[in-house]
Amino acid sequence: MNSRGRYLVLFLLFMPLSLAAEEGTVAYVGATLVDGTGGPVRTNATILVRGRYVTDVGAGLEVPQGAQRVDLTGKWVVPGLIDAHIHFMVSGRMYTRPSFLDLQHIVPYEEEVRWMQERVPVTLRSLLCSGVTTALSMGGPSIEYDARTQAELMDDAPTIFVAHGPITQLPEFLASMVFPPFDGELSIKSARSAEAGAALVREGVEQDADLIKTVYDASGSLMRNLLQLGYEDITGAIVDEASKHDLKVTSHIHELEPGKALLEVGVDSIQHLPVDAAIDEEFISLARDKDAIVVPTLVLRKRTFVDVFTGQIDLQPVEEVCGDPEVIRSWFEVDEMPDLGSDRIRTVVDQTPLAYSNTKTLYDSGVTLAVGTDAGNFGMLHGPSMHLELIEMQSVGIPPAELIVMATRNAAAITGREDEYGTVEAGKFADFLILSADPLEDVANLQAIDRVVKYGRAFTQADLMPPVLE
Ligand SMILES: [Zn+2]
Repeated sequence: MNSRGRYLVLFLLFMPLSLAAEEGTVAYVGATLVDGTGGPVRTNATILVRGRYVTDVGAGLEVPQGAQRVDLTGKWVVPGLIDAHIHFMVSGRMYTRPSFLDLQHIVPYEEEVRWMQERVPVTLRSLLCSGVTTALSMGGPSIEYDARTQAELMDDAPTIFVAHGPITQLPEFLASMVFPPFDGELSIKSARSAEAGAALVREGVEQDADLIKTVYDASGSLMRNLLQLGYEDITGAIVDEASKHDLKVTSHIHELEPGKALLEVGVDSIQHLPVDAAIDEEFISLARDKDAIVVPTLVLRKRTFVDVFTGQIDLQPVEEVCGDPEVIRSWFEVDEMPDLGSDRIRTVVDQTPLAYSNTKTLYDSGVTLAVGTDAGNFGMLHGPSMHLELIEMQSVGIPPAELIVMATRNAAAITGREDEYGTVEAGKFADFLILSADPLEDVANLQAIDRVVKYGRAFTQADLMPPVLE
């Protein structure tokens, strides 16, 4: 039995206690419901919740005898948000990527790693406080799986799905230059052949992975380009092996031609998006024909590469309420910043307009989009970042009604779990947000969280992230 299995057995032993607390139906009555399906908005909705599930939804439903009634007149209900791209192997603090910004004279990387390992419960509550009821870990060392296990053992945590990977074709020595070993373990997994790729998928199956993640990233370097020749075949083998185990594959790319090649070999979704060229008809038709989902991850460019590195951070309300204060503090306590004139930073900033216009092109062409943040990078808080990303995607011209679907159902579909998560419908998990402002008017109103309901339990934000007393 793997470690997750052992934890589940423990969990089952203690089940009767938690079941007792879940008995009875709760009727949430009178809200305006945006259910995440993209269907019409329903006013005066009744949502019946029993245990971890929504049992019925409708306008003017009869409230069963003995049900606890919660009046939501004047409120809105949306599905819990699903961040399609986070990592637990990075904290959002300035000390978290020493290969990019070396501040080890302030906090040695070993200390940062230990801090992250101990901080997982706070990171999880911070996500839930922000209305993120599910998050997809895009891979890394064992801390990603450990966070999933911890979340399963907590009531006040989101559901975590873990992508096995990221699988790169770069040799290990290069992979370890991108991310130094984490507690002795490589953060990126190297597969230099189709067989090695398939073997890593089976390793993921052993660990009960929820999906598989690959990375193609040449970052403009000829050597990296050459080292990744034949990446289509290796990714193809990964896709084939994953499909045998009913796992979806998601791929990190920043370039158009590799993006097309990966869609061609059948990856199910793309993390980030091409920023080396304008999206063309071929990419669009491939993405549409294959029903692929694209996760643009826009706000990272501005928040990390401009705001944090220039010391001009404008905190959103949700960051003040739900952000881990220790992460936020690190942004203001460091004077040494990377050289803004350096190639690696200029490139990201220069590509930004194309990232936005390509997102708009994808949206206008009807390609399915989902919302993900890459939280954990400098300045990117687990939880609040979701709202920063939604605001950026709205700025591109995507209406809030569609953004809500992208941030819920579409994100669940990346791991093939849209039948259980991502919408407020009978038979789905009772994961939803009660809001005190209209999210269809402005997506920033998704921050007006009155309560977060996770697996049928209602939490206030103060329950999850108690205010810090100064
Ligand atoms: Zn990432």
